[in-house]
Amino acid sequence: MLVVMKHGASETEVNNVVEVIENLGYEAKAMPGKQRTTVGLMGNDGRVDSSRIQGLTGVLEIILVTKPYKQVSREWREADTIVEVGGGVTFGGSSVPVIAGPCSVESESQIMDIAHQLKELGASLLRGGAFKPRTSPYSWQGLGEKGLELLARSREATGLGIVTEVMDSENVDLVSQYADIVQIGTRNMQNYPLLRKIGQCGKPVLLKRGMSATITELLLAAEYLFAEGNQQVILCERGIRSFDNHTRNLLDLSAIPVVKGLSHLPIIADPSHGTGVRDKVTPMARAAVAAGADGLMVEVHPNPAEALSDGAQSLYPDQFSELMREIKVIGTAIGREVGS
Ligand code: PEP
Ligand code: MN
Repeated sequence: MLVVMKHGASETEVNNVVEVIENLGYEAKAMPGKQRTTVGLMGNDGRVDSSRIQGLTGVLEIILVTKPYKQVSREWREADTIVEVGGGVTFGGSSVPVIAGPCSVESESQIMDIAHQLKELGASLLRGGAFKPRTSPYSWQGLGEKGLELLARSREATGLGIVTEVMDSENVDLVSQYADIVQIGTRNMQNYPLLRKIGQCGKPVLLKRGMSATITELLLAAEYLFAEGNQQVILCERGIRSFDNHTRNLLDLSAIPVVKGLSHLPIIADPSHGTGVRDKVTPMARAAVAAGADGLMVEVHPNPAEALSDGAQSLYPDQFSELMREIKVIGTAIGREVGS
């Protein structure tokens, strides 16, 4: 970290910056220049809170040399992290698993029906929300624990592992008993007490990018999970807020190669929430695989017209079948096995 002092900053102000840095436990080196003095902070391990120094008198700006996250960075671990989910499903290697299923678990017949179809069509894991984070309190909120039980029954019947969201700290233990992957939704990416609790749950985690979060903030959220000892983290680009309303979100596919450069963690894409529009899901799924996504998450419903949530973006099983066929071809072109 470099602390650039204002032109004409006094010796007392420079010395004060040096003292604060030393009190934080780091080495400081003042470097007087022709225009202004710069103070270098040595030994930054990614845990320095720059705001402590930013507000000191005489400071013009702070230039960050070290990334604010540590364990999730490529510098910390060069090789790609492979997250193993069980049943031979892995994220971060050459395979590109596809997580598919309805937005919400609605009934036993709905989830069983779609689970059997998805298994047949080559999905790797079954998704379905039991606890639903809905924008309106009057919208369908999910079946809660009953939904988790139905997911477990679908897993028994099909062998597909399950991915489901936990919304609050109180339900982390409950959801982790059922889930093969615990999902953290976009609205909770910066819910730090929840991140800490999930960091202790011992299950692989699917961390969705906050709808207004920068890539750095996404990686810092993953750092929370690592800080609690959970390294089985899969990141998910699910679209960010934008100014255009033709799609529900702007699916930021450039985040995939960017994250891969900055971090060793796998990153998957969710073109369903990323677009919000059924006929835009397949084109963006194709693009995500081509961009190097380590997996996909796609909403599929046996009867989207009757879905209790996100029907407009849910694929019909036939469309999912076609999507799988197409993305397998794209995977082959770039040396990856889709759907395994
Ligand atoms: C979901 O996966 O159903 C969901 C609510 O996703 P997000 O948190 O990305 O909106
Ligand atoms: Mn949904």
